[in-house]
Order: sequence, then structure tokens, then C-alpha cells
Amino acid sequence: MWSSQHIALNHITQQHMLKYITFFILSHLQIELHVHLDGAVRVETILDVAKRRGIALSACTVEDMTQICVIHQPATLTEFLGKFAEYMHVIAGDREAIKRIAYEFVEDKAKEGVIYVEVRYSPHLLANTDVEPIPWNQKE
Ligand SMILES: [Zn+2]
Repeated sequence: MWSSQHIALNHITQQHMLKYITFFILSHLQIELHVHLDGAVRVETILDVAKRRGIALSACTVEDMTQICVIHQPATLTEFLGKFAEYMHVIAGDREAIKRIAYEFVEDKAKEGVIYVEVRYSPHLLANTDVEPIPWNQKE
């Protein structure tokens, strides 16, 4: 038989559990307010698209390509942006590749627990026609 003391204790336990669950959920969800789509491309995707388009890269394995794309120590902005030149010519100008990286970006963020993200990109840097200059030394 439950006494009023048991009921009060049970109520406190439920409140405590609800607070714990709320804290757990909120502490595991993330919000990202500034992410560059072209800097969040899966390396596997770069290799797949390069193969499909017949574009040679500096590396042909995920491990080697990752080493090329990653900044290993503090660097200048120019050095950082130089990493984009390693793979952007593979993605730019290819509608299917851009659709794929956008889809995979959302998939990756969902797996990371991100519930809100503001992603940005430069249409000019993803194009290979009707822009001047055409970026990444691509052909129109
Ligand atoms: Zn930025």
C-alpha cells in the first residue's frame, strides 16, 4: 500500500528523471550556424566523382586524399583555402555531384545530432559555365 510519503517521493523521482532526460537530450543536440558546404564533402565522394568524370587527383585512396585535404598544423588562410583546389574542380560544374554532397551533408549532420544548421556555398565556385572567371581552372 502506498503512503503519501511514497507518492511524494515517487513524484520527486519522476521530476528528477524528466529533468535528467531533458538535460541529456539537450546536451546531445547541436546547432551549427556557419558551415561551408564545399568544405564538408566526404572524401569518398570526391574519389567517386573523380572516377566517374575521369578526373585525375593527387591521391586515389581515402586515406591519402584525406591527408592531402587536411590542415595538419596552424596555417595561413591562403594555405587553408589552397586545400579546396585539391578537389573543387572535381565537384564544380557537376549537378549530380553537388546534389550528392548536399544530401550527404544533411545525412552527416543528422548522424552528428545537429538539429539546425546554416550551410552556405558560393554558386560561382560551384559553377563551370556562365561565370567569369571560371574557377579551379575548369573547362567550360
Ligand atoms: Zn565562412
